[in-house]
Amino acid sequence: MIKVKNLTHYYNNDKALENINLEINKGEFVCLVGESGSGKSTLLSIVSTLLKPTKGELFFENLNYKNIKDIDDFRKTNIGFIFQFHYLINYLTVKENIKIANEKATDNEIYNLLKILRIDNLSNKYPNEISGGQRQRVAIARALINKPKVIIADEPTGNLDSKNSLNVFEIFKKLSQEQVTIIVATHDKNLANFATKIYEVKDGKIN
Ligand code: ADP
Ligand code: ADP
Repeated sequence: MIKVKNLTHYYNNDKALENINLEINKGEFVCLVGESGSGKSTLLSIVSTLLKPTKGELFFENLNYKNIKDIDDFRKTNIGFIFQFHYLINYLTVKENIKIANEKATDNEIYNLLKILRIDNLSNKYPNEISGGQRQRVAIARALINKPKVIIADEPTGNLDSKNSLNVFEIFKKLSQEQVTIIVATHDKNLANFATKIYEVKDGKIN
């Protein structure tokens, strides 16, 4: 589903990624592990079309990224993002925070998603009225509301305790069983064991 070929990336003259090759299948749950600064975020940014690589080819369902006309629309319809910090908007309720990711989403669709994530009782609360674990589940709901084929998450549990971290990875596992492709960067090797495939990123390389 996603193919990365001979990918190299430089920030100015500093090499961040060197000759990365990956093939990720539909419904696969991929974890990128590695120390801070190893290149995980850079790789996720490139795979998610937010960053243009210095060198290399990328494909999404055999479509070369270079041939995608409206990259913003492509990203919005195919990829859901989750970050370490949830970036919820504090003056909007849970429901409204999800709605801004998809104006067309009905209350019913939002409610069903919240129910799956076990936060359906929180739809009218504001982010500062709920716990950190709940906020991150709202962020997951927001990423899922467009029914993306791929979820890309960068240290999504970096800010959570172990119970909530497990919960997030269990949600990812369930999604991958429903054929959503999951690509997650984490420095937590225990959590990485949830994945169907683990890649270790070291000094910008994957062996
Ligand atoms: P990780 O996600 O594994 O912590 P990153 O992809 O963030 O690693 O960083 C890889 C390397 O690229 C690091 O040396 C980092 O300092 C550098 N880097 C990351 N983002 C930028 C940027 N916007 N400008 C310059 N250098 C960057
Ligand atoms: P979770 O495991 O869902 O993150 P916690 O164990 O952090 O929940 O908290 C237990 C309960 O306490 C939650 O269901 C939530 O309603 C409440 N709670 C926790 N933190 C906060 C907070 N910062 N503001 C309001 N309620 C909170």
